[in-house]
Amino acid sequence: MDIATNPQHSRKATLLTAGIALLVAFVLLMAYQFVSGRRQLLEELHTEASIIGANSSAALVFNDEKAAREILSAIEMTPRILNAALYRADGTLLVSQGDVRGVFPRHISAYDPTTAYGTGWERFLSKTISQEVIQDGTPVGTLLLHVTNRSLYRHMIEYAVGVILIGALALLITSHFTAGLRKRMAHTEGQLHQMALYDRVTGLPNRRFFEHELESAVGRVKREGKCGALLFIDVDDFKKVNDLCGHQAGDEVLQMIAERLRHSIRSADMIARVGGDEFAAILYGVGGPENAAKVAAHMISAMREPFPTEPIPSHVGLSIGLAMMPNDGEDPDTLLRWSDMAMYVAKSHGKNRYQFFSEDINRKVRSELELEGGLRKALQDRNDELWVAYQPQLSAKTRELVGVEALMRWTMANGTIVSPGEFIPVAEKSGLIVDLGQWLLNRICTDLAEMRAQGLDIPKVAVNVSPRELTRGNIVVEQIRQTIEQHGEREERFQFELTESTLMNESGSQVLNALRQAGFTLAIDDFGSGYSSLGYLKRFDVSTLKIDRQFIQHLPADTENAAIVTAVIQMSKALGIAVIAEGVETEAQADFLASSGCDYLQGFLLSRPVSTRDLIAYATARTESALPVGA
Ligand code: C2E
Ligand code: CA
Ligand code: CA
Repeated sequence: MDIATNPQHSRKATLLTAGIALLVAFVLLMAYQFVSGRRQLLEELHTEASIIGANSSAALVFNDEKAAREILSAIEMTPRILNAALYRADGTLLVSQGDVRGVFPRHISAYDPTTAYGTGWERFLSKTISQEVIQDGTPVGTLLLHVTNRSLYRHMIEYAVGVILIGALALLITSHFTAGLRKRMAHTEGQLHQMALYDRVTGLPNRRFFEHELESAVGRVKREGKCGALLFIDVDDFKKVNDLCGHQAGDEVLQMIAERLRHSIRSADMIARVGGDEFAAILYGVGGPENAAKVAAHMISAMREPFPTEPIPSHVGLSIGLAMMPNDGEDPDTLLRWSDMAMYVAKSHGKNRYQFFSEDINRKVRSELELEGGLRKALQDRNDELWVAYQPQLSAKTRELVGVEALMRWTMANGTIVSPGEFIPVAEKSGLIVDLGQWLLNRICTDLAEMRAQGLDIPKVAVNVSPRELTRGNIVVEQIRQTIEQHGEREERFQFELTESTLMNESGSQVLNALRQAGFTLAIDDFGSGYSSLGYLKRFDVSTLKIDRQFIQHLPADTENAAIVTAVIQMSKALGIAVIAEGVETEAQADFLASSGCDYLQGFLLSRPVSTRDLIAYATARTESALPVGA
């Protein structure tokens, strides 16, 4: 991932450009210094020459050699003038001064400035200035001065050294500051990099990084002909940790989980946090599924030790879905989807376990998703695909209609009937059950009103409630009450059917008490198929118990079941709880149940679940047949 550029490279580039810029500035500065220094020097020398010339005009006019020598001797005070010579107007030398060494000829016409003073350094460093001496407007002679440029060059060298020193110092200072700046920039860059690719809480790679890694993993596995694995890891019940111990502790637990997970894999493998309580791992070269399974099992057992939190230690489990590379898929999206599905199956099989992806899972999940989509649509459209069937509940003794059980039905647009056994679990998993329950209650109320308008007043309706509907707490009870009130129905008419496991559930039991207090009655559904404890029937003030169909099925021949059913009926009587037998299909079953003291019967023998129209017809037929002959 090319998120940061090469800092070494950019540093070199900036240094080079700064160096070139400095060099150009230096050269320009030196050239300017040289030109202006030289001009100033020449101006000064010309001024000096004209002064000496003016002073020596009298000596020239009078051909006074002594006076001329005296004047020229003054140049000894000026170190940059090396020699001087004064020529008469006819060009002959009057006098010369300094270490002449034959630099000045006897006659000025023999003077050639291009060859004077030899060649090379000497000439480079010196110069001859010629000044005509004028007296009253008439030239009276010429003054030649041999001067040195040394001072200019010395000045230039000093200047250059000064500039270089200052430049170096400036460079040093700026590089010191830019180094600090660069360090800070690199640090910030690093932080940005960290934030973009790593999770803040656990320090593990984040989803973005993980997806990138997965993409290259797929390629690598294929190229090297090895076997890899993708693990999708979901922390079970992590919400509990947050709710119980707070978010701060939740974060700490996540860190510890991350740490334990990191220790479960090899350093070449990768583990990432891809969601709130979701992690994912890529295992390279695992050899085969057995080894991937070992890693998954190791991860699960690594969570066994509780996490130290306040007020109580936290226990968490893991649900892990596995997909194998390249066998299960060759692109990251597919692999992620498969491992996610497998995780979902692991969770639905009771959590804290791992599950490999399989084609079966794919088919199952796909059809569940389709079902969920269809159900959602049916709920939204209110197009009568969903309706309620009512199954009569009759008195075992008199066969009078005492109530009905409401059972949901879904007839799809294409005519397919989906059984509640199929769509209720999907609705529960997806959370649709909440809306569905709300819809159901409304529909029951309108059905009751419609049947009443047609002369059938149903004394009692049993409504099935999923545990999932109760997790929202007392809001549910309030909603139920409001719906029923809106329709002008009475609470006593409604009986809620719950399974034993719902009673055992903490949040479920609270809602049950609230339901009871609101005036509804409760029935235990499928009794005998679960915990079968009569103790809490009393605790929750349950009014009715429904014996599960599996105990009724083989009555009365199956003596064992007959004994169980009789015992349950007797105990319920002792507790003041009414008993309904479900799934009554034969007269023999009905007879046995009636003679054993069972209160009510429900089953295909008496009626299948039917539409409101059929229910009215059924009830009418029963009352008519019950009427005394001739009436
Ligand atoms: P359940 O509550 O135990 O409902 C009784 C089931 O047994 C019904 O199946 C009913 O049609 C069937 N049944 C009744 N008499 C007989 C019989 O004599 N023989 C046989 N073999 N079966 C009989 P159904 O309607 O398919 O419902 C299946 C399950 O779906 C229900 O079991 C209940 O758990 C759930 N369910 C149905 N409607 C709803 C609903 O509105 N809400 C919720 N939460 N669950 C529902
Ligand atoms: Ca039921
Ligand atoms: Ca049942």
